[in-house]
Amino acid sequence: MALQLPREWRRRAERYRLFGGRCLGCGRISPSLRPICPACQDDRMEEVELSGRGEVYSFAVMYKAPEGFEQDIPYVVALVKLEEGPVITAQITDVAVDDVRVGMPVESVLRQWRQHGPDGHIVYGYKFRPAQRP
Ligand SMILES: [Zn+2]
Repeated sequence: MALQLPREWRRRAERYRLFGGRCLGCGRISPSLRPICPACQDDRMEEVELSGRGEVYSFAVMYKAPEGFEQDIPYVVALVKLEEGPVITAQITDVAVDDVRVGMPVESVLRQWRQHGPDGHIVYGYKFRPAQRP
């Protein structure tokens, strides 16, 4: 458990904001910074901050949850197509499960992800909610 803390700490920055990787060869933006562009295999990749805005591309309602997520049942996991192009998987929040629609505009928001371990260590990260920012 103690070993997880430094790792969580290091990942905090990338969880608080969304970063992707832009290929300097073909311009394609990936949802994470990779050493090589998945489209053209160019290795000239630069980190780029993503707006966190997009729309629901597809989604599923989850009635079972992995350990640590039980308090959220039922919840929606969606493929969110970001306005920069990449599609990422994220939980949808702040909306009734029945009201989630394909094509719904959404934006990223910082939320509690899960609580794990006897010490109740809480992990925060991004989820997506119906778009409210102009
Ligand atoms: Zn490329």
